Amino acid sequence: MSCNLLVPAAIFLTGNAYGPFSEICQCLGLESLSTRHCYNIQRVYVLPEVTSVWNLHNEAVMAATGDQVVTVSGDGRCDSPGHCATFGTYTMLDINSRLIIAQQTVKVTEVKNSYWLEPVGLERCISKLQDHNVTISILATDCHPAVQKMLREDHKTIKHEFDLWHIVKGVKKRMLQRNTELKEWVRMVSNHLWYCVCTCDGDALLLKEKWTSILHHIINVHDWLSAEKMLKCEHEPYSEEDGSSQPWLERSSKAFGTLQKVVMDKRLLRKLDKVTEGIHTGELESIHSLNTKYVPKRKKFTEESFQARLRLAALDHNHNIDREQAQTKKGALQFKLQYLKPAGGYVVKAMKTPKSYNFRREIMVGVVERCLSASSMRSELAEHRHTDAEKEKRTFGAHKGLVKPSKEDAVAHHLSRFVNK
Ligand SMILES: [Zn+2]
Repeated sequence: MSCNLLVPAAIFLTGNAYGPFSEICQCLGLESLSTRHCYNIQRVYVLPEVTSVWNLHNEAVMAATGDQVVTVSGDGRCDSPGHCATFGTYTMLDINSRLIIAQQTVKVTEVKNSYWLEPVGLERCISKLQDHNVTISILATDCHPAVQKMLREDHKTIKHEFDLWHIVKGVKKRMLQRNTELKEWVRMVSNHLWYCVCTCDGDALLLKEKWTSILHHIINVHDWLSAEKMLKCEHEPYSEEDGSSQPWLERSSKAFGTLQKVVMDKRLLRKLDKVTEGIHTGELESIHSLNTKYVPKRKKFTEESFQARLRLAALDHNHNIDREQAQTKKGALQFKLQYLKPAGGYVVKAMKTPKSYNFRREIMVGVVERCLSASSMRSELAEHRHTDAEKEKRTFGAHKGLVKPSKEDAVAHHLSRFVNK
């Protein structure tokens, strides 16, 4: 009995699927469970237990913030690229504790179209925090127009900031798209933008003057008169040798003209008004990549399974935020060399100690307890089917205004097309 219960649970809790597991068993000549048995166990015992553990954990995270105001960053993720998403998940991260404080999933059939997944997900996260008396003082998001409008009109007490990570990413992309000669300067320009935000002291004018000063620096001019607060570069003067080794641009060059357009872009300058707090969602990006471990984008999931898998990813993140740098047996710190496309080369990264998966054990124990206290699998399944029937399930077809034909009619029509040819 224990394997019949624990194997489906372990498959789910590690972000795996039954298909590959069954193939491995087949290859080794091992007897394994039937697909139906595995999914039934997951549905009846594992999914509810994951939800219960996540709810308890999430309540504790929100309670730990007490009545404090929090600074959060938020970002949405769709289950598939492009405009064919079925689910959108909005995740909110407490900047101070680095813990996921709210996570809400929206099904596309609940909204007009996939464009609205992100704002609706965000609205649900805000409501959830409000329900637990957690007040958001600053919220950093990407520049989604509907999110901007919603925060401007419906949540005036929240200071809305743009996520610096997305803005820097946009600048780098535009530089590389428009002129390959700027490749050498991409890293320096993006570092400069980070530096400007970190040193502007919340002053938007100073930030913009610092940012646009790059147009002087890059042509080897390090002081100027055409500004109010920033009249010279903040670096030490270059020695003759250092100065001559820099790939300075000519003011009349095409590359300089392109950079000028990127730096002085009106939309970018307007956005800079809202990055003075220097909040970025870089960590949310790594959470999105952790999500793909538990919810691969190419696979389809039921709503319950999708949500439970994302909750596992959130538990995985929250239980592993304080990992220290790994050391060798002799106590030397461990590093790895990683190729990063945006950096255009290899970057040294600190290796972390292995992750802790104690939350999985906690869920496994809960799954066993659920099974022991249940009457029988058959009656539990019947109970689930009953709950499902009671829920108003809106299918994709119904969402698009289609009436599902009977299978017999559809098959007969399909075959008649071949006969008529
Ligand atoms: Zn300079």
